[in-house]
Amino acid sequence: MTSPYLSIDLEKIEHNARTVVSFCAAHGMTVTGVTKGVCGHPGVAGAMLRGGVCAIGDSRLENIARLRAAGLRCPFVMIRLPPLSAADQIVEAVALSLNSELAVLEALSQAARRRGRRHDVVLMVDLGDLREGILPDDLVPFVREALRLPGIRIAGLGTNLACFGGVVPSSDNMRQFLQLAREIETTFCMKLDQVSGANSSHYELIASGHAPPGINNARIGEGILLGRETVHRGPWPGTVQDAFILHAEVLELKQKPSVPVGQRGEDAYGETPHFVDAGNGERAILNVGREDIYLPGIAPLDSHLSIIGASSGYLIVDATAARGNISVGDRLAFSLSYSALTAAMTSEYVKKIEIGPGAGHSGPTDVSHGDPGEERPT
Ligand SMILES: *Cc1c(COP(=O)(O)O)cnc(C)c1O
Repeated sequence: MTSPYLSIDLEKIEHNARTVVSFCAAHGMTVTGVTKGVCGHPGVAGAMLRGGVCAIGDSRLENIARLRAAGLRCPFVMIRLPPLSAADQIVEAVALSLNSELAVLEALSQAARRRGRRHDVVLMVDLGDLREGILPDDLVPFVREALRLPGIRIAGLGTNLACFGGVVPSSDNMRQFLQLAREIETTFCMKLDQVSGANSSHYELIASGHAPPGINNARIGEGILLGRETVHRGPWPGTVQDAFILHAEVLELKQKPSVPVGQRGEDAYGETPHFVDAGNGERAILNVGREDIYLPGIAPLDSHLSIIGASSGYLIVDATAARGNISVGDRLAFSLSYSALTAAMTSEYVKKIEIGPGAGHSGPTDVSHGDPGEERPT
């Protein structure tokens, strides 16, 4: 088996999806499973669908194309704003996209008409997180214009919080969102199918019972993939947090000083790190680096290990406390944050190994599953 690799437990993802779907269903919401964090990995999307999500949302056309090519049959949602330059591809690839620009809607309208199709859109509203979305005061005039466009149907209203500005979902901003939805429905005498106002950051608000009723769709990524809500990154109750584990191999293991020797300038990343002299220690060098992961987002599963740092291709681990238990060639295991997961999924140097029943039907695999070999801890 080559290393490094990411093990992907499809059964755990399916379990997480089922947990999130039933929680959301109990609060009147369907769930769109979001796969952008795993680069549209078909095995993961399949596990989400088995777990009951009603659609798959992704931010990249390449990912949606990969899912379709792998034979997944479900509604696909483009959750990143479509580029004006790609209106034709969007209409071709998905039945529904999230939008905030009239010029893009016009292009989508033309693209849909050329194909004799209808393209559904969810209009995004910015409630203060300052990522994508129409500002509340501009929404009514925007909808008035959008309704004139043939080939386009306004399927709903959406909003996204806790992403750029870290704005926490509250009963206030959710009430404002629901009021906007109602205002659109009454002003234009129309029914919005989707009031898509939740993501993984909404868990606590919903669980607390303070979420105003009316949101009927949640777009959930991290809650399913990593079993976490995203306001405090606490576990989403009933889910597991270890569906993804990173494994990297020890290339070198030596006693070395804790402070670099010689006059010092910048490191490989233009930084001047500070070192504390802790004497000599056992240092393991592993075959994964900043090119493959988000360094602050990984943590060794073995509590005797700690991360010292990384260059683009090497991870440097303090193995002093694990002395005698590690050898060159061993594989060490790490948990991943969402950012680290996305980086590892994007890196072509990190192999993706599906484990669990249903594994291996799609996506790249280079071993038969279930060979944890000498990785530790097990
Ligand atoms: C990424 C994304 C989501 C999913 O967010 P999570 O916090 O992973 O649940 C939902 N909606 C949009 C528009 C997104 O970009």
